[in-house]
Amino acid sequence: MKRREFLKGAAAVAAGAAVTACGFKGFKSEEAAKAEADSLARADSIAAAEARKPRAYQSLPGSRLSLSWEPYELQLRHTFSVSGSSRNSTPGVQVRIGYDGFVGYGEASMPPYLGHTVASVQAFLSKLRLGRFGDPFQLEEIMAYVDSCAVRLSDGNLSDGPARAAVDIALHDLFGKLLGQPLWRVFGLNPAKAPATSFTIGMDTPEVMAEKTREVAGRFKVLKVKVGQPNDLEMIDAVRSASSLPIVVDANQGWTDRIAALNEIYALADRGVKMVEQPMPRERIDDIAWLSERSPLPIFADEAVQGMADLRRIKGAYNGVNIKLMKCGGLLEARRMQSYARAEGMKVMLGCMTETSCAVSAAAQISPGVDFADLDGNLLISNDPFEGVGVSEGKIVLRNLPGLGLNIRK
Ligand code: MG
Repeated sequence: MKRREFLKGAAAVAAGAAVTACGFKGFKSEEAAKAEADSLARADSIAAAEARKPRAYQSLPGSRLSLSWEPYELQLRHTFSVSGSSRNSTPGVQVRIGYDGFVGYGEASMPPYLGHTVASVQAFLSKLRLGRFGDPFQLEEIMAYVDSCAVRLSDGNLSDGPARAAVDIALHDLFGKLLGQPLWRVFGLNPAKAPATSFTIGMDTPEVMAEKTREVAGRFKVLKVKVGQPNDLEMIDAVRSASSLPIVVDANQGWTDRIAALNEIYALADRGVKMVEQPMPRERIDDIAWLSERSPLPIFADEAVQGMADLRRIKGAYNGVNIKLMKCGGLLEARRMQSYARAEGMKVMLGCMTETSCAVSAAAQISPGVDFADLDGNLLISNDPFEGVGVSEGKIVLRNLPGLGLNIRK
């Protein structure tokens, strides 16, 4: 018998005894009814307290982590163009980590410019022997092992960011599911502080860009425009003609002259632009430092920062950093980078690649409190196998569901 049913039964017996004592069989005295009500209220509060008691998770003896994966082609809703390339799909690899009947989902997304492929991700995953671990809560230790299977590159970063991120995301999802809590709660974050996400208006003719801007009117609070072309201001004016929302711009290393870049940034600021991402090539660190010192808008690093090694190197040259799980290798490293950037007085932005709701929901878990969020990757694909983080009036909506908060679409 459940405790609550037992207590209810006990209350009924107590009330019955009171009735018999008073000699009025068939109906209850006022005192007996009150005793019953008090007893039920007590039972309710005991049941509520029971429900709130922390329950230690106990795995089945001998449970081990298991890893599996599957390549997946993400279909884009619209052709995606950035400075230098355009595409209609992006390859991905979906990862699952099983443990004790629970499954954590992860994802590696490989935009072509980072040099990762489905083959390189699968080769990395094939090296991993997660079956050696019997406690999925030892995230630090498991990820240290995963990182030890990567190669330290000449720039100090670790190789195989997307593959490591996929494992890290799946482990975090599993971690939250075993605890029965969403990750944002495990991290101690307030979902009400989740930021607005920018929505990217892809490069196109001014007419099409104005049209695309009108299409998303009312759904977003910040717009992002890819610049780095000779007609940047024309594109911004086209978006501006259709919306008065704040705009952020990403030059994707497209500007080459620092004085021209500074002039353009002033012109962008006049048009309501709020920040500039990766204005010049990543290796031009002195020029970027010169620009950051003089720019009326904050300058954020994106391509210049893959992992922590880059972040240490560029501090002081940029005002902020765009952290992405696929670059740095997952949530554990992203949270370390977030703390480091804050400690160095830098602003923090969270970005994503073209990804399903799996990886985007993972990044969203650590989004409360960041300065900018660009987590629209899942909105750009037409074959998302997951439902996860939402967007309401442009703001990220974190779900109160365990782990990443995912459902598999039927
Ligand atoms: Mg960028």
